[in-house]
Amino acid sequence: MRVDIQGLLSEPNGVQRFDFGFPVDVLDGVDGASAEAVGAVANHGGYVELTAVLTVRGVGRCARCLDEVPFEKCFDVKRPVVKALREADDDGEYIVADGDGYLSLRPVFEEELILNFPSRLLCKEGCRGLCPKCGANLNEGDCGCSTAEVDPRLEVLRALLDNS
Ligand SMILES: [Zn+2]
Ligand SMILES: [Zn+2]
Repeated sequence: MRVDIQGLLSEPNGVQRFDFGFPVDVLDGVDGASAEAVGAVANHGGYVELTAVLTVRGVGRCARCLDEVPFEKCFDVKRPVVKALREADDDGEYIVADGDGYLSLRPVFEEELILNFPSRLLCKEGCRGLCPKCGANLNEGDCGCSTAEVDPRLEVLRALLDNS
């Protein structure tokens, strides 16, 4: 997952394409995820840019009902590439080539996954989640627990407010 960009750095219209897959272990709460990155590093008359489509697949858990949620997500990646970083450029956007003229892509794409992957997955819009009392999955129907009953801790709070 290292791309040789030594040649294209000195070539005004040089392009180096890549297409590789890698296992993903940087996402919390996600099992067996893998990603594929397809794209190129291209020199546009001295401005070198990495562009790629990053696809990640795996199985996560619904934030509300904890059901498994298979997912496939795509992200567009576009980052400037430099041979060495000048201090003025250091805004976190730039990718810096390794000393030997190669670009290590996996850390770049792992960073993109961490930044772009949703922090909460839902099995569906409007997932009803689990009953706070009995733990039943409410998507499968009502469990019969009364929801009218007030949490005793709230009752105490209400009494305090009434007295104030
Ligand atoms: Zn759910
Ligand atoms: Zn219940």
